Amino acid sequence: MDFYSTNAWKDAVLDRMKFTNIPDADQAPAHDTVLFVGEQIVLNTLRREYAGFPQKYSPLPNDLVVVQRTASMGLGVFAKRQFKVGDTVVRERPFLIAAVDIQNDPSLVGEFNPFIGSSVLGEMLKSAERRFLPSNRTGFANLSTDYSLNPGPITDNSRDIFQSLYVLSCNSFKLSEQDFAACGVYKDYRVVPRVASRINHSCAPNVVYHFDEATFTFNMVATRNIKAGEEILTMYCGLQVPKAERHRNLLPYGIDPCRCQACETTDQIGSDQRRKSICSFDMIGAKNLPPRAALKEFARLVNLIEKEKLHFLDSYAVALHWMAYFWGKLNQKAISQKKLKEAEIYFDIKGKAHSKWLQHRTAIAD
Ligand SMILES: [Zn+2]
Repeated sequence: MDFYSTNAWKDAVLDRMKFTNIPDADQAPAHDTVLFVGEQIVLNTLRREYAGFPQKYSPLPNDLVVVQRTASMGLGVFAKRQFKVGDTVVRERPFLIAAVDIQNDPSLVGEFNPFIGSSVLGEMLKSAERRFLPSNRTGFANLSTDYSLNPGPITDNSRDIFQSLYVLSCNSFKLSEQDFAACGVYKDYRVVPRVASRINHSCAPNVVYHFDEATFTFNMVATRNIKAGEEILTMYCGLQVPKAERHRNLLPYGIDPCRCQACETTDQIGSDQRRKSICSFDMIGAKNLPPRAALKEFARLVNLIEKEKLHFLDSYAVALHWMAYFWGKLNQKAISQKKLKEAEIYFDIKGKAHSKWLQHRTAIAD
């Protein structure tokens, strides 16, 4: 490959990156600062959308969860008290947010090569780390010390770059356009939170994350009731697929194999079938049925989701809401109100999804 064009490409990418430290004014000591890496357009959008960005947020008491060693998954996060569905378990400004799909920038000329892409990303992360204040730099570096590093396919001779990439790939959560509406040309943003980076995977999770743009906070919210002492578990891959596919998707995270409650069940065929039925459920068909038949269909979906513990799915909240609607049609006010309340809790869980719920409610009222 042409050395000069490679460097030009790298410079062009770095030129497009905007590095910004966002002071964490709500947290003492004041040196606790997070770093944001992204395009200028992102910051402009956030400042325009949210007056006083980043808005103040209320930190949670610091004794809600504890980071502890687990039997087989390295460190994990455990509840120190009980949480109810909808409770926020972790809320924090992340260490870092970075765009990782730099190869998709249409204004970049020249051929994309994955090795160059990794090296550019590594350079970005190194620049980002240089801007961390000391406490953050240590915290960020510590995220990778729990694993032994394997030099992998990256040709760049810098171990630092590899280490940064490792932290990014194994301790980050993807922000889709739905989570991070302010994104610009790049659509694949990764967030590296602090405590939440230690939360392990389960195919039957008990929390789901959402990113709050106004306060620039990463939040983990309970999707089921959690007992004191129970491990907090989220998902690293899509869960509406059979176990074999989940296991393939979990390999990049060093999970081989997943030994979660869902993967260790004795009814594996049943579990795979239920997930398939949840995925292929015909929402439009169900809502066009007469009330009693529609209720039966939505109750079937709710039951499948509850069995697989996939309460975080949008279809769970939507199904509960349609149940409320059809109980209303049958003049069963009390049960309709009960289902509506349940639906609201689940629509609220993912923050932004609430606006989607309002749309849904309006659509039903029409
Ligand atoms: Zn599993």
